[in-house]
Amino acid sequence: MERKTHKVLGYEVDLLTFDDAVKVILESIKEKKGMQIVTINPEMIELADKSKVFSSILKNADMVVPDGSGIKLALKLQGIKQEQIPGIDLAHELIASCEIFNYPIALIGAKENVIQTTVRRLKSEFQGINISYYKNGYFSSSKEDEIIDSLAESEPKLVLVALGAPKQEIFITKCRKKMPEAIFIGVGGSFDVWSGEVERAPEFFRIMGCEWLYRTIKQPERIK
Ligand code: UDP
Repeated sequence: MERKTHKVLGYEVDLLTFDDAVKVILESIKEKKGMQIVTINPEMIELADKSKVFSSILKNADMVVPDGSGIKLALKLQGIKQEQIPGIDLAHELIASCEIFNYPIALIGAKENVIQTTVRRLKSEFQGINISYYKNGYFSSSKEDEIIDSLAESEPKLVLVALGAPKQEIFITKCRKKMPEAIFIGVGGSFDVWSGEVERAPEFFRIMGCEWLYRTIKQPERIK
């Protein structure tokens, strides 16, 4: 499928449906064409404008999907209709597909209790899931190379990285040098939600595109 994109504040965003995003990713796994997928939001654009490294990562990503309502609205203001593709939902759907094809999956990020519970819950939801590697996200930079080596040795097809932006995208860039065939997605706080540590916004907030508002009300410390 040919890539169709449109620029939002200087960053290309892919124009595709949720189902097509899943299709493109599964196709890439089959063809052993690695990808870095970014689920973009306005906060990330703000960060990228201050960091050349992060900005270049966003510009070179293989797929950039609008995680929340902000980017969807920015596109709408330019006359472009694009559905929201929340990273957490995209990752969940990909896990379901990986279970079917018995593709190994790796998960990196979040606190130790959160990753443990996430793994346990995913194994009970997807009985045939093949988790080749998992690790909490609180490791020192001196351990990074060792972690990337162990991750690469486990040969996952899909790697979900939950370190928050821009840390997760920078970590992914380093991993890709050793694992050019894998699919990487930065999934932010998804493991906190999957583990039950953090509640996902109720459907009302999600449909209205106001998940950020719900999260700010529940975690006021997010206002920096
Ligand atoms: N995190 C981590 N290591 C770090 C910093 C953060 O594993 O050094 C995790 C944190 O525990 C949380 C996730 O990264 O699970 C970031 O979640 P947040 O909701 O802040 O990310 P966002 O969705 O806003 O990018």
